[in-house]
Amino acid sequence: MSRFPAIWPSAVSHLYATSPDHPVLYFAPSVLQATARRFITGFPGLVTFAVKANDERAVLENLAAAGMTAFDVASPDEMVKVRAVSSQAVLHYNNPVRSKREIVFARDMGVASWSVDEMGELEKIAALVPADGVEISVRLKLPVKGAAYDFGSKFGASPARCVELLARAVELGFTPSMTFHPGTQCEDPEAWTKYIGEIAGAARAANVRLARLNVGGGFPSHRAGEAPDLERIFDVIATAVDAAFGADAPALVCEPGRAMVAEAFSLCCRVKSLREDGSVFVNDGIYGGLAEAVILGSVDRIRVLDGDGRDRNGARSPRVIFGPTCDSLDRLPGEVPLPVSMEEDDFILFAGMGAYSTATNTRFNGYGAFDIVTIGSVA
Ligand SMILES: *Cc1c(COP(=O)(O)O)cnc(C)c1O
Repeated sequence: MSRFPAIWPSAVSHLYATSPDHPVLYFAPSVLQATARRFITGFPGLVTFAVKANDERAVLENLAAAGMTAFDVASPDEMVKVRAVSSQAVLHYNNPVRSKREIVFARDMGVASWSVDEMGELEKIAALVPADGVEISVRLKLPVKGAAYDFGSKFGASPARCVELLARAVELGFTPSMTFHPGTQCEDPEAWTKYIGEIAGAARAANVRLARLNVGGGFPSHRAGEAPDLERIFDVIATAVDAAFGADAPALVCEPGRAMVAEAFSLCCRVKSLREDGSVFVNDGIYGGLAEAVILGSVDRIRVLDGDGRDRNGARSPRVIFGPTCDSLDRLPGEVPLPVSMEEDDFILFAGMGAYSTATNTRFNGYGAFDIVTIGSVA
């Protein structure tokens, strides 16, 4: 038996006892389950999890335990991972570009819903998948701002194309629905309103009653400033659906990735060196758990702890943080306020790091190996 507990009371207790010299992601299942319940209680429809944000087995298990029954998957591998923890899980396959082999695999897994944004892709599915009881969810894209980056640059069809795709899906015997993704870390709820209004218009133009409307992911996580008000976004969505559809409203689905999982993990790196120019080298960077900093900026909720696990409080001054690889791109954007008293071998804890961290981590230059340590509370 290990001399260490399987579940530590906190990140600090683990840091102090083990002095880890590699990056650690601290996972708080209680936080993940509470977030899942917050979505399930507050969102006016079916809540699914976008597996690409974090496909760790422990994450999928805790979501299933919290009552999540359906998952948004983008590849055969993600389907296998979901079914390994929940054999009954409903799969929504929302990557609109698929090879024929992937379609056959997904059909045999019993995928319930498929997003499409092109006629050729719809015909490919129709040739291989019996339509009966299977949902086709036509994906709309709009030039909408409000998110950290715009998913419409890769996937989605114009409103006019959506009308044609809906009509063809009905003709083929599929259950017609629609979907969109407002862009990740979307801090402007009006983006949802705009999409929902356009979707109601496309459905009317196609003369199709939508079975369901999937309002995507994009819900923001707490990166800087105040924690986002998810309930306010849920209200905006409910109001927009009511205004756009009235009595004809489709059932709602959402598929959060980031907002579901971010807060359940914090990332701990260790200071390797304080350089003469004031910059700080740490043992994880943009090729590891901090990959998203390049696109979204750094999370500003940072604690610095000494080797005894004590917080370094007091004055902070801005410093450049470099990752461990020899690549000069491997640095966090801008300068990060860090305690003046910090020293080599200190630990830096970034809060809210569960999304797109374990999932996109690489082993570039021999770095990137990390441990996941389960903790009882994030305090
Ligand atoms: C990535 C993705 C999501 C999750 O997006 P978040 O911004 O992490 O919430 C949801 N749906 C689809 C189709 C995606 O590709």
